[in-house]
Amino acid sequence: MTLSTTEENYLKAIFKLSLKGPDNISTNNIAAETQTTAASVSDMLKRLSDKQLVAYEKYKGVQLTQHGKDIAIALIRSHRLWEVFLVDKLGYRWDEVHVLAEELEHIKTPDLIGRLEAFLNYPTHDPHGDPIPDAEGNIQHHEPISLLELAANERALILRVKEQSAEFLQYLDRIKLSLGSRLEVLEVNNYDNSRLVKINGAQPVFLSEKVSENLIVKRV
Ligand SMILES: [Zn+2]
Repeated sequence: MTLSTTEENYLKAIFKLSLKGPDNISTNNIAAETQTTAASVSDMLKRLSDKQLVAYEKYKGVQLTQHGKDIAIALIRSHRLWEVFLVDKLGYRWDEVHVLAEELEHIKTPDLIGRLEAFLNYPTHDPHGDPIPDAEGNIQHHEPISLLELAANERALILRVKEQSAEFLQYLDRIKLSLGSRLEVLEVNNYDNSRLVKINGAQPVFLSEKVSENLIVKRV
């Protein structure tokens, strides 16, 4: 079966929404995730359901079929391996690679991704800390604790960034925050939920609620 890039992107969007719980897969949420209208989502769902990639019942909602899920996970695997390649082998920065990987992930040549994975020596995470599914489609998920859940005096390590826009990643570069950085929460402001944080023992900085929410951490 050949799928268009748009069809593949829908499968990925539905899969990502499904990770947040089955109630999240509404037409409106899919429209927001794919940046289209609810009307085009309905058309597309009909097409994907004809191809037996989603099970779609009006007023009941959408689910990926096993085949649809397999395709979505293969795309995510390809995307994340390409990101590792771009950063580790071609020297791109972590804020540059997502857009490129969005295109590269759609190249389907048998064997390509397996060879890429072996060439990269089987990495487990992409440059943003997202886990890379293995060839069987298994993904290991981190316990999703964001920096917002830490109280004053708690310490943590940055495991993953949720938001991957260039603006956000460049901001993290400016405050010298990267995967593996050690954080110590010095103060939490109840007024706006911002927090004063020490990064790798350096001068403390204020992180907004929005920034904190997008930093996935592990308590240490
Ligand atoms: Zn990406």
